[in-house]
Amino acid sequence: MKKISVVVSCYNEEKATPLFYEEMERVRKNDFADIDVDFEYIFVNDGSKDNTLEVIKELSTHDHRVKYISFSRNFGKEAAMLAGFEAATGNYVVHMDADLQDPPYLLRQMYDSIVIEGYDTVGTRRVTRAGEPKIRSFCARVFYKIINKMSNIEMVDGARDYRLMSRPVVEALTSMKEYNRYSKGLYSFVGFNTKWIEYENIERVAGETKWSFWKLVKYALEGITAFSTVPLILSSFLGILFCAVAFIAIIFIIVRTLAFGDPTSGWPSLACIIVFVSGVQLFSIGIIGQYLAKTYLEVKNRPIYIIKEKKLDSKSKLTSMEEE
Ligand code: UDP
Ligand code: MG
Repeated sequence: MKKISVVVSCYNEEKATPLFYEEMERVRKNDFADIDVDFEYIFVNDGSKDNTLEVIKELSTHDHRVKYISFSRNFGKEAAMLAGFEAATGNYVVHMDADLQDPPYLLRQMYDSIVIEGYDTVGTRRVTRAGEPKIRSFCARVFYKIINKMSNIEMVDGARDYRLMSRPVVEALTSMKEYNRYSKGLYSFVGFNTKWIEYENIERVAGETKWSFWKLVKYALEGITAFSTVPLILSSFLGILFCAVAFIAIIFIIVRTLAFGDPTSGWPSLACIIVFVSGVQLFSIGIIGQYLAKTYLEVKNRPIYIIKEKKLDSKSKLTSMEEE
C-alpha cells in the first residue's frame, strides 16, 4: 500500500496544531476514502516555547499515524522541514504549515497529479496576498524580480513550501546538506517535472505569524547569497567603474593644472569623493564578508538541527541510526 507522509513544522502552534490535525483527518477520511493509501503525520516541534509538544504527544497517543520529532531549541522552519523529510517513510511526502494556510483540501488533487498525470512533484502558489500588509507584498514582488535576474535558478513568486513530492525528489532534497538552506531555491535546483496549483491566500487559523519584516529581509538576503554570486560581480564592477572615473579625473586635473596653474581650492569636493569611495569600498567588503560568513558556517559542518526527543516508526531511518 502506498503511503503519504505529511510533514508539519510547528513553532508555538499549540492553538493551530489540533485544528490542523482535525482538518487533515477530515480530508484523509473523505477525499482519500476511494483509494487505498495510508498516511503518517510527522510533526516537527521546532523548539516551541508553549505547549505545542504536549499537544502533539496527546495526538500521538490516540493515533498511531502521528509521529513527532522535537528539537532541542528553535532551529528555524528550514531545519524543521529537513528533519521531517529525512524521517518520512512514505512513498510521497508533503510539507504543510500548521496554521492551515496550506489548505489540505488540495492534497487529493496534488496526489492525482503525481499518480495519474505522472508528475514528479506538485507545488502550490498563492495568486493573491490578501490579508498581508501592502508593503510586505510589494517587497516580496520586488525580491522575486531581483533574484530571478540574479540567479540561473527560477524562483516562482508566491510559491509555498506546500509541495507533494515523490520519493526521488525527497531523496534529492535531503541529499543537500547545506547549512544555509533556502528551500524555494533548493526545490528549483533539484528540477524534476513540476506541476503548479494556484490558490487564493488564506489567513492563519490561530496564533501569530513568526515572520517579522526583518526576518523576511534576512531570509531574502539568504536566498540571494545562497543562489547567486552576482553581488560579488557587482562589487568588482563598482571597483572598475571607480578606477575609470579616477583615471579620467586625474587626466582632467593634470590638464587643468598645466593650463590654469594650481590654486588650492576644491577640498570640499575632495572630501566628498573620499567619503563616497570609502563607502563603496566598505559596501563591497561587506558583500564579500557575507559570502565568507556563509562559507565559514558551511565549513564548520555543524548539524542543521539537534533532536531532543522523538517518536518515529521503527523502520524509519532516524530511529535505526540512533538508539532510543
Ligand atoms: N515555523 C517553524 N519554525 C520557525 C518559524 C516558523 O517551524 O522558526 C513554522 C510555523 O509553525 C508554521 C510555518 O513554519 O507552521 C510557517 O510559519 P508562519 O505561519 O509563522 O509564516 P507565514 O505563513 O506568516 O509566512
Ligand atoms: Mg502561516
